[in-house]
Amino acid sequence: MTESSPKDAAAVILLRDQTDPTNPAVFWVRRSEKLSFLGGFHAFPGGKMDPPDTQVEVANCNDAETAAAISCAARELFEEVGVLLARGVETLTKGQRASVLDDLDSGRMSWPALLGHYGFYLDADDFTYVGRWVTPPFSAKRFDTWFFLAHCPTKQEPSVTTDGELESGEWISARAAFARWQGSEVLAVPPVLHALQTLSAGLTGDLVSRFLATPNAHREPTRRIEFRPNYICFPVRTPTRPPATHTNCYLIYTSSEILVIDPGSPYEEEQQALAECISELIAEGRTVREIILTHLHPDHVGGVNALRNFLAGNVTVAAHQNTAEILGGEIPVNRLIVDDELITLQGSPTIALRAMHTPGHARGHLCFYEERTGTLITGDNIVGLGSVLIDPPEGHMHDYLNSLRRMRALPNLSVLFGGHGPAMANPQAKLDEYIDHRLDRESKILAAVQSGCATPAAIVANVYTDVSPKAHAMAERAVLAHLEKLESEGLVSTTPDGTYRPI
Ligand SMILES: [Zn+2]
Repeated sequence: MTESSPKDAAAVILLRDQTDPTNPAVFWVRRSEKLSFLGGFHAFPGGKMDPPDTQVEVANCNDAETAAAISCAARELFEEVGVLLARGVETLTKGQRASVLDDLDSGRMSWPALLGHYGFYLDADDFTYVGRWVTPPFSAKRFDTWFFLAHCPTKQEPSVTTDGELESGEWISARAAFARWQGSEVLAVPPVLHALQTLSAGLTGDLVSRFLATPNAHREPTRRIEFRPNYICFPVRTPTRPPATHTNCYLIYTSSEILVIDPGSPYEEEQQALAECISELIAEGRTVREIILTHLHPDHVGGVNALRNFLAGNVTVAAHQNTAEILGGEIPVNRLIVDDELITLQGSPTIALRAMHTPGHARGHLCFYEERTGTLITGDNIVGLGSVLIDPPEGHMHDYLNSLRRMRALPNLSVLFGGHGPAMANPQAKLDEYIDHRLDRESKILAAVQSGCATPAAIVANVYTDVSPKAHAMAERAVLAHLEKLESEGLVSTTPDGTYRPI
């Protein structure tokens, strides 16, 4: 499985005109909850490069790659929040700018044609380069994003346009924005948090060098991702199911303890990288409380024994009884976790995780919910990329839907941390999508049986028309899971020769 190569993208950290240089205000936006990638996250205006972006000349810039990135950044800023950062626009009224934006949005003019037509041009002096960040490889969608710092022109005021990608936007001081992340009120990716933290120290003479003072600002992917304070997502490479290439290990920490969830990699270098990260947390005065397993699959437990050895055998491994029984002697589990158990970490902040037995993907599957911040560790019940396999007899569709509904009913739910892919800041929308998707499939499967499809293979051919034939064997397992559920509900029956018919 090859990892997809990152696509070029650009973003603008827009500073408010005449802002307080000791605590500058930036314009941040909230991504729509409907977006499958980073839906609900707070971010800066930006997006992926379009081929025409490379056809724009940029004054004071003699490097074609940088010019294309500036062009992309300026176009995205204009499209998403209506600010046109170009020379020659100073005399335009608000209405004229809106009409120019309409030329672009409607497709009447391409970006380069529009700039040329109105006699506008971009100037590199208006865009200060502050780093390039690459999405960690846990994501199928990966970007190599150029970040630029820019001052909002005096007469322009950003506001989120109606293109549907963004939900809202506002000016906020860098410190207030960072405090909202610290208070677990918002989710943001590492480059956004880095920018807010850097700006919090003020618009000093060494501002740009502070932005660039981390290898992550030079395209080295972040390994330790803290979407939410005290919850480290540490993706490790695993032999998992495509499109995923990594499994997320979670390190939840307080001032004195660390909880490790799903150290899944069987590969030595990945185990070492994880051990190093844990060592850093230990060096700051913490101990590892225990290793917890969400479920039994190899891509979630492959690094348990190595980590136990690294910790000199001095650590408890905890899981649900069904998981412990199957893992047996290979990975000894020395503590059983039961439904509704509360795991409270020592130290600060207060972190108390409620274990939820949520079978469906696997019989002993556990999720963990922290009510204070609305954080849910979902294991493989909900994932940030790809789909969840329900493969009987370990997989059980009736249980799975019940588990999804139980998660949906949680009060205060604000983020889902899945076993694969980025965090999901749109938990209700995501859970509704999962439930609706399964019910939709189920009604089609029932209709297929009623129209005479009698075997899982025939049903797959009839219903899974959107799935590539390569995935049909897997789809048959999912159909079987649906048929078992429909049978238990008295809607279909099996004949002695193993075929299905409606009741
Ligand atoms: Zn799994």
